[in-house]
Amino acid sequence: MMDKATRLKVALQKSGRLTDNSLDLMVRCGLKYSRGKDQLMCYGENMPLDLLFVRDDDIPDLVQQDVCDLGIVGLNVIEEKRLAFQAKGVQPLFDQLMTLDYGKCRLSIAVPDGVEYKDARSLHGKRIATTYPNILARYLRQRDVQAEIVTLSGAVEIAPRLGRADFICDLVSTGSTLLANHLWEAETILESQAAIITTPVPVSAEKQDWIHRLTMRIDGVQQVKE
Ligand code: ATP
Ligand code: ZN
Repeated sequence: MMDKATRLKVALQKSGRLTDNSLDLMVRCGLKYSRGKDQLMCYGENMPLDLLFVRDDDIPDLVQQDVCDLGIVGLNVIEEKRLAFQAKGVQPLFDQLMTLDYGKCRLSIAVPDGVEYKDARSLHGKRIATTYPNILARYLRQRDVQAEIVTLSGAVEIAPRLGRADFICDLVSTGSTLLANHLWEAETILESQAAIITTPVPVSAEKQDWIHRLTMRIDGVQQVKE
């Protein structure tokens, strides 16, 4: 049952926006599982596949370190980590297997009410608060804009009111959080949705077979829903 060489280990978000959909997807793919006592893992009973529940931010690292073979996480987190690993010269890097039809949101530049914004050049010389410094830095670099990135671990939307930043770069889905914080969405810098990533380390033929089977089943599940 615990054989690392043959059982696939899949990292999922423990509790958050991706959790229900990710678990539901596994069940629709036919997985029957039993919960471990510690709530940290679920063990597949009819497939050689176990689930590990962690914070979403830890998923790319767990897959990169080959602790897990697969991980389901937002493209926003995937892209941010990929850029961070690349900057450190880490290779080979985890791979992106497929995107999923949930967890849709966008990473956008948001501006305080009453402040003007025309295009990326409006950011020149300003401070922008974000939890995605690498994605934002790439965006600014590509547009030749110099700005100060203020990296925060959370509560980015209140940074302008606290005087810590002029603009923010944060995730948006409905825009209600922005509205509540007197901000408006000026520009999208990344469209995001959930995706599956795979370990950079070659897997056994058996595991590869199950990864293939899983992708086929996910394709089937997603087509039914369309
Ligand atoms: P964790 O405790 O796992 O670190 P978290 O607070 O970072 O959780 P959630 O808010 O649950 O994460 O969001 C998980 C992912 O859901 C995001 O990284 C993003 O890909 C996606 N998502 C979809 N809509 C939104 C939204 N409106 N705001 C934030 N994230 C969203
Ligand atoms: Zn997180």
